[in-house]
Amino acid sequence: MSTHHWIDVAVQTPAHSQVGGLLSYRSPFLVQAGQLVRVPFGKRDVLGVVWAVLDSAPSNMPASAVRDVLGVLDGLAPLDPNWRQLVQFSAQYYQRSLGEVALSALPPQLRDLTHEQLARRLKKQNTERAVQTTPGPALSDEQRHVLDQMAAGTGPFLLFGSTGSGKTEVYLQAVARMLAADPQAQALLMVPEINLTPQLEERVQARFGADAVVSMHSGMTPAQRLKGWLAAHAGHARIVLGTRMAIFASMPNLKLIVVDEEHDPSYKQQEGARYSARDLAVYRGRLQNAPVLLASATPSLESWHLSRPAEEGGRYLRLHMPSRIGTGQLPKVRRVDMTKQARHAVLSTQLVAALQERVERGEQCMLLLNRRGYAPVLHCADCGWKSECKHCSAFRVFHKIDRTLRCHHCGLTERVPRACPECGNADIAPIGRGTEQLEEHLGELLAHVKRPDGGPVRIARIDADTTRLKGALESQLASVHSGEVDILVGTQMIAKGHDFRRITLVAAVNPDTALFSSDFRAPERLFALLMQAAGRAGRDAAQSATSEMWVQTFHPQHALFEALKKHDYPAFAASELAERTAADLPPISHQALLRADARTQEAAQALLNAAREALELQLSADPATADLVMQVSLYPAVPMSMQRVADVERAQMLLESPTRMGLQKVLWHLHGVLHQVRSQPEHKGVIRWLVDVDPQAI
Ligand code: ADP
Ligand code: ZN
Ligand code: ZN
Repeated sequence: MSTHHWIDVAVQTPAHSQVGGLLSYRSPFLVQAGQLVRVPFGKRDVLGVVWAVLDSAPSNMPASAVRDVLGVLDGLAPLDPNWRQLVQFSAQYYQRSLGEVALSALPPQLRDLTHEQLARRLKKQNTERAVQTTPGPALSDEQRHVLDQMAAGTGPFLLFGSTGSGKTEVYLQAVARMLAADPQAQALLMVPEINLTPQLEERVQARFGADAVVSMHSGMTPAQRLKGWLAAHAGHARIVLGTRMAIFASMPNLKLIVVDEEHDPSYKQQEGARYSARDLAVYRGRLQNAPVLLASATPSLESWHLSRPAEEGGRYLRLHMPSRIGTGQLPKVRRVDMTKQARHAVLSTQLVAALQERVERGEQCMLLLNRRGYAPVLHCADCGWKSECKHCSAFRVFHKIDRTLRCHHCGLTERVPRACPECGNADIAPIGRGTEQLEEHLGELLAHVKRPDGGPVRIARIDADTTRLKGALESQLASVHSGEVDILVGTQMIAKGHDFRRITLVAAVNPDTALFSSDFRAPERLFALLMQAAGRAGRDAAQSATSEMWVQTFHPQHALFEALKKHDYPAFAASELAERTAADLPPISHQALLRADARTQEAAQALLNAAREALELQLSADPATADLVMQVSLYPAVPMSMQRVADVERAQMLLESPTRMGLQKVLWHLHGVLHQVRSQPEHKGVIRWLVDVDPQAI
């Protein structure tokens, strides 16, 4: 009888509010699911996504309490059901509110635009974009075989291809084939960090025309992000090239998803909804019937395990490209036994000699040390004082350049004291070394060395400290590419993705710590990093025969380095998987972490333990859920390995399950339990809690 329409709208609600993120409104306008609307929310006027059009007034509140929609952003096509399903699944799987996930998946500027402003943007936008495919090089046999296997199957595919084997060329050809079959089709190309891969952007644009491609990553201005998003949403942009956030791009004609360097931890979001863009890529591909290509020279053990033979339960098809393009060879791996070096030596005599030789021949070298600053800690030998951070359970790092002590966790920065703050001893000394010191040390060791042109050796450092300013990384990389640098020192930042054609020697200065880390993924990360780093050497085929990867280690016989020496990822993966199987760790089992932050460690742990007890009680009371308690292990709360950051104490509780489904069920119940427990007065000291499903760091 009324002309009103009742709708459910996804709005941005606080993450842990009781509201699941859907609110009911009344609309004087006819609207469809997926449309964007402006609605009143408290005292504000916010953007929302119409999630459902209801048949009748909502039953959970009096019709008089339902507020009216303020306006509809018509002119914009509704977000399609696949997109909504992806958002809904992500919210559910990663335990966040639907509204939060939906709204954070949209470009920020969309939230602030009025109807008129949006109409103007759309008008400018409304042009078909030209795609001109330029033919690529003739394919290698391996590349052709891989593309044929893709054409014959449905995927998901895991492309296991060496660095320099031509994986990127496979992505481009897969896109070309997709466009040849359907000129309106869209492809999503995901990369871990777009700033590290400007070359890829160039290659994609060169192949398909600049107009066909839009980028999506956090380094763009809000206006650029909106523009790219609108082009993808309208179907005009054929290729979206982006970081993890791009998995939520609205792409109505999505027909192909590529995840480059699929093992990279950057695909896991570390705040808000802690989603894995790689895992969502597989989900989205299945949802839209689009083939998914995951690719890496060192796949994640998750994907490797999933791509075991189908007879053994594998669900991905593994594709192989073992050879480098052309006559390029992988570098020779050399292990230096540091137990045979002078005590406290940073660089072995052999490595110094090798660096000298390369510099004298005019070649480039790269040294990796995963610690920035000058020294990780300052120490007073008289009283034992160390440069602890007063707000964190960490040491402040000594930065010699500006003589500061900086906490890398909370940012606390102070000038280095002239004398020990405890006892007044003037002789406080650095312990350990970071990239700053390595750079200085190298300068001293190689001061006498001459380049072929007679000039002195040029050393450069690239890490988070040298690249803070906008454009700094690009200009530093450019000087490496153009040959203005002989030795590049840096953190893992420089190991990934760059196509440094002149580098012939890469050295890992001190990789051992990862061998004995408490995080079971540390060896996997180290192996990937070293293989990546090795992939930086000898990319120029003419030099690849003499290129080398050096590893300085106190454990030269370690299986990880044995496998590295043979460039044998499958051997490494097999031994890691055997260990994971024996210990029932992922990918054999599935994990989630429940974390609580509070002013005291006791308060943080108390919430987690109370939640665990309440959950166990609730699950065992109901016959329908009793077996979940047997299946899924709930461990007692423990302090996180970084226990205190910025005066906040952090604790975590691990959940482990043989199946994803079991884990999901338990998390669902846990969510309700947590709201109850949290509201009890004894837990009011808790600042926040959060759930991390499939955590990447334990
Ligand atoms: P990856 O992504 O596996 O590291 P790329 O696709 O970047 O490898 O290929 C490595 C190099 O070989 C690049 O310079 C690329 O242009 C070149 N390349 C790739 N495929 C071919 C091919 N079929 N013929 C000639 N050169 C190729
Ligand atoms: Zn002292
Ligand atoms: Zn701190």
